[in-house]
Amino acid sequence: MNSKTLSQKLDALTRPAQFTETLEEEKVRCFACAHRCTLKPGQRGICQIRFNEKGELRVPWGYVAAANIDPIEKKPFMHFLPGASAMTFGMLGCNFHCDFCQNWISSQALRDPASNGAGNYVAEISPEELVSYAQRSGARIIASSYNEPLITSEWAVDIFKLAKQAELYCVYVSNGFATPEILHALQPYLQGFKIDLKCMSDAHYRELGGSLQVVLDSIALAHSLGMWVEVVTLVIPDFNDSNEELWDAAKAIACISADIPWHVTAFYPTYKHLQSPPTSAEILQRAADIGQEAGLHYVYAGNLPGRVGSLENTHCPQCSTLLIERHGYMVYRNVITAEGYCPHCGTKIAGIWG
Ligand code: SF4
Repeated sequence: MNSKTLSQKLDALTRPAQFTETLEEEKVRCFACAHRCTLKPGQRGICQIRFNEKGELRVPWGYVAAANIDPIEKKPFMHFLPGASAMTFGMLGCNFHCDFCQNWISSQALRDPASNGAGNYVAEISPEELVSYAQRSGARIIASSYNEPLITSEWAVDIFKLAKQAELYCVYVSNGFATPEILHALQPYLQGFKIDLKCMSDAHYRELGGSLQVVLDSIALAHSLGMWVEVVTLVIPDFNDSNEELWDAAKAIACISADIPWHVTAFYPTYKHLQSPPTSAEILQRAADIGQEAGLHYVYAGNLPGRVGSLENTHCPQCSTLLIERHGYMVYRNVITAEGYCPHCGTKIAGIWG
């Protein structure tokens, strides 16, 4: 599928935007993400998938490029209904262009011609059908993931409205390049927000297409709005794995709340970032040690199941009792009480458990 064909296919699967404002001379300003693109008729946003058509912002609606039943641990969330299934859907496109993206075929659609094949995954579907799929599969959670959910928030909200009626939980798996307005708009529907903190260098963030401070502000605002937030840093050798940068990341999270789980996960060379070696278990252990020293109560090492000791497990921050034992995405044992307390010392364990 060439770029023009893919663009025509995706443009047909759109609706008028909700998260936008109308300006003079048929211009629109989108606030679904912090790029805040101002678009004249005929222009496309930085994400390429939202576009101004005759003075109206059109946004993706009515399809998925993937929909799967995954363990919630895969998102990853460790303090959000452990062992529950999450019906996870994704569309196409992103507002970043990370050269190490592990989902680049779906995220870089319309931005990188090498990902035009993603158009073959597009399947038309309704919000009702997706929620029904979640219910029939026994999922307790619906997750917007795989591509950047912020840029397809109208579609997510229409699904989440039905999910809420069906008493399902809803989460975003996001890069956190959000505006305050979109976080406030999502707050009634979202119980969980996984945010990537990709590095602590603003120069590096700008190379990826974002800004460090915006992401830090999103973590703080999502937390203060009452969403359950977990933060992930993909630790990439020679990119963001210095002691100083890991310390800065851990302190930044701890300053918002020591109860926010921090996942330090292993990188594998992919897409255009082939110059760094895979992250070793030793590097993840060092990152986790730094996180704990910075005061974070819950630090996890991901993507190397069975090779990171107890860093896949949850321990009580007060008495160190083993509370949840995991291997990869599998939960072997969970002794946290239904009300969310350590059964040994009675400490409240932050998270959503019941
Ligand atoms: S979602 Fe972000 S990148 Fe896309 S049009 Fe809106 S502001 Fe621009």
